[in-house]
Amino acid sequence: AVRVRFAPSPTGFLHLGGLRTALYNYIFAKKHGGSFILRLEDTDQTRLVPGAADNIEDMLEWAGIPPDESPRRGGPAGPYLQSQRLALYAQATEALLKSGAAYPCFCSPQRLELLKREALRNRQTPRYDNRCRSLSEAQVAQKLAKDPKPPIRFHLEGEAPAFQDLVYGWNRHEVASVEGDPVILKSDGFPTYHLACVVDDHHMGISHVLRGSEWLVSTSKHLLLYRALGWQPPRFAHLPLLLNRDGSKLSKRQGDIFLEHFAAAGFLPDALLDIITSCGSGFAENQMGRTLPELITQFDLTRVTCHSALLDLEKLPEFNRLHLRRLVSDKTQRRQLVGKLQALVEEAFGSQLQDRNVLDAAYVERIILLRQGHICHLQDLVSPVHSYLWTRPAVSRAQLGAVSEKVDIIAKRVLGLLEGPGMSLTQDMLNGELKKLSEGLEGTKHSNVMKLLRVALSGQLQGPPVAEMMLSLGPKEVRERIQKVLS
Ligand code: GLU
Repeated sequence: AVRVRFAPSPTGFLHLGGLRTALYNYIFAKKHGGSFILRLEDTDQTRLVPGAADNIEDMLEWAGIPPDESPRRGGPAGPYLQSQRLALYAQATEALLKSGAAYPCFCSPQRLELLKREALRNRQTPRYDNRCRSLSEAQVAQKLAKDPKPPIRFHLEGEAPAFQDLVYGWNRHEVASVEGDPVILKSDGFPTYHLACVVDDHHMGISHVLRGSEWLVSTSKHLLLYRALGWQPPRFAHLPLLLNRDGSKLSKRQGDIFLEHFAAAGFLPDALLDIITSCGSGFAENQMGRTLPELITQFDLTRVTCHSALLDLEKLPEFNRLHLRRLVSDKTQRRQLVGKLQALVEEAFGSQLQDRNVLDAAYVERIILLRQGHICHLQDLVSPVHSYLWTRPAVSRAQLGAVSEKVDIIAKRVLGLLEGPGMSLTQDMLNGELKKLSEGLEGTKHSNVMKLLRVALSGQLQGPPVAEMMLSLGPKEVRERIQKVLS
């Protein structure tokens, strides 16, 4: 059975890069009827960030890609927090010690520091010189008496096994001759990443490891561990990096890449899933506007290439607009949007809402339908340019007088238009009527008539087209606002 895992360290909140790794795992699991597991790699207790573990689970749920097994949900392979699995790492270390594949290291921090400095002075990459490998049994027993909990190192030995990465093809990274023996278990009983990762992937029955390509070079080391433990390794598929459009690292980007930020700013999860996959490979089509079920259908791991994905976040509002329109076109989804907008209006204007029932579902729905093509977020509908939809503007006579001297006459003609068929017209036809109205007013420019109407209706100089404003507000409300203008 396919079992995949997303294994972030709770050393930070979930960002777009993490979301993409999680998403590929989720899609791969769903595509093959398998399970998607969230495992939190919290072995470096000094780097934990409060709230990060909760944030990661919350954001996966928000994004619509909840794990099947996780710290919060539990599951048959739990616990899903590495700090609660110390016994398993101790057990594996014990086995490695017994077979001679691992050994205790009694080198003092001072000695290790000296080695490092010397290497740097000689312009070499620091590496442990494997001194404790060669301690005799008697020496070890003697040292253990003084230092009963030394760190344990893995004896890197022999040629690194080659492996066929499902994205990068055949790979082999020589480790034994290049690196010093790595610590796998620290003196406090916590494992380091390499051991913990191998032990958990094995015990959790992981079939495929889909992770960022920065881990490609660690895989040979992991394979040596699998071999030493006598375990069958999973398949590996490393995913190319997600970078900014200019090729710089995502984490170096100015501004926010955390999911929380996008959620708070009103972006739709579907828009995010769409944009982070449309810049990468793996799907039959890269057109924008794809939903999660479509992504699952279109995905094929063999289509993933090793090219980095360049993310152009400036396009995100466009993606959002598209997904918003898709939701509007679906009756059930639209009803939910109406509920959301009602809540947003309440929140933004609560105490200023007049007796006029602006929270009426039919009114709110009409606003969404009329404005959907012009906004990126539902929130935009409660921004200052749209406040006229929910509250009456305070417009002074002086403000109107500054636009035109013919306030009264224009207002009266517009009221006349409202008596006629004006408000049952389409936006185009209403525009035509307004044009005719201006032509009937000698010496008055059409643009001034429109400006006057705009100010009278919204108290502002900018906003949506006047005819659309009128259709949004409806005849009764337009009449009342215009009547107020008359001296
Ligand atoms: N904890 C590692 C990370 O934060 C996981 C790497 C892996 O998937 O093996 O990226």
